[in-house]
Amino acid sequence: MSRQRFEASELINVRDFLAQWSNDVYIQCATDPTKSTDLLAEKMNMSEENVKELESVCSLDLLNKPGVETKTRWDSLEKIPPQVNLYCTSFQKKELDKRKHSLYYAREMMRKFKYKRNDLHSLVHYNNAITNIVKTVPEDCRVIYPDVILTVNIHRGVKTFLQDRDEDHPKTDQLYPSNTLLVLGRQKLTDLRDVVRCVHDLAVAGDASENPDADCQNYAKDIYKSGFFFINNTFYNDLREDDARDYSQLIRDWASDPDRQVGPFETQRMEETTFLDLTLRLGHPYLYLHQGDCEHLMVISDIKLLTKEHPQDVRDYPYLMKKYQRVRTACRVCTKQAARWITYGSEFTPENPCFFCDVCFRSLHYDLNNKKIGDFEAYRFFDHQAIV
Ligand SMILES: [Zn+2]
Ligand SMILES: [Zn+2]
Repeated sequence: MSRQRFEASELINVRDFLAQWSNDVYIQCATDPTKSTDLLAEKMNMSEENVKELESVCSLDLLNKPGVETKTRWDSLEKIPPQVNLYCTSFQKKELDKRKHSLYYAREMMRKFKYKRNDLHSLVHYNNAITNIVKTVPEDCRVIYPDVILTVNIHRGVKTFLQDRDEDHPKTDQLYPSNTLLVLGRQKLTDLRDVVRCVHDLAVAGDASENPDADCQNYAKDIYKSGFFFINNTFYNDLREDDARDYSQLIRDWASDPDRQVGPFETQRMEETTFLDLTLRLGHPYLYLHQGDCEHLMVISDIKLLTKEHPQDVRDYPYLMKKYQRVRTACRVCTKQAARWITYGSEFTPENPCFFCDVCFRSLHYDLNNKKIGDFEAYRFFDHQAIV
């Protein structure tokens, strides 16, 4: 099947983007829409009546006139007006024909759409966040105009060492985002980093096969606190902690060899950089790396001006817009319970690494006296579905 190739945008400096579109009309409309008519009339050298008439003629409400537009989402997806001859509707028509002619394909597509993404709660909350605005938000917590909103898609983390050990089972779902978040231009990159949830942060450091009952107090996120974003040839390192390491140093040393012909790369501190400071391409894959080798693709898909139609409380940002659902990892023995253990080098397993629920793990790898059988490594496993 041929795949559509999507190109990233040109380089965009976020601060320049804001300066280009930010003017007194935008700020007036965003902060006090009731007075925007006066200002527009003055700027456009028109009477207020004419501005109001223009507003009503160009109103978005006209797009939803009863009887003119289809009402439901399915109607608009399935009923293509015959006179429309757009490039995008030709794809839509082809897809609908395909579903009509193959019930199996139609069912598969429905199954894929179902539960793939959970944005209902976010949207309800989002609407509440907009309608309950200003009145209830303390003054020092309100968003500051002018500003931009960026849509950031964070993909599921992939440990490179897991990839190496599991070459027979490539992780294709790493290409799907796990969360979509809205961030403000004035926010620091660390504000985003602090809300990225990754199951590998919950990993318990060390092989627990000798004593699987030991308390797990040392989560990886408390031990390995370093991380960076790699955006437009710059490493943004999180150096808030005294013992944080510059993960990019090794890569920059490797790239400094002129024979490799990569780079040069720059470095900045993540905690001192806001999104307004970035220069980026929309749709381009960037990287968030933490835990030494846990890699998350990160795609910024949109930049827009902050308006009254967005949540007005800075505490709501980064705002979780969408959470993508995943199938849980099941125990390879009973195939019913969720996996709690991951083993490496176990002679009793058909695949390496292998996943087990607690009961199956202990039944297979320990004797009646809880003594380890065989030579293997075991680590506690937290399912991706288990984290928010
Ligand atoms: Zn991760
Ligand atoms: Zn089991």
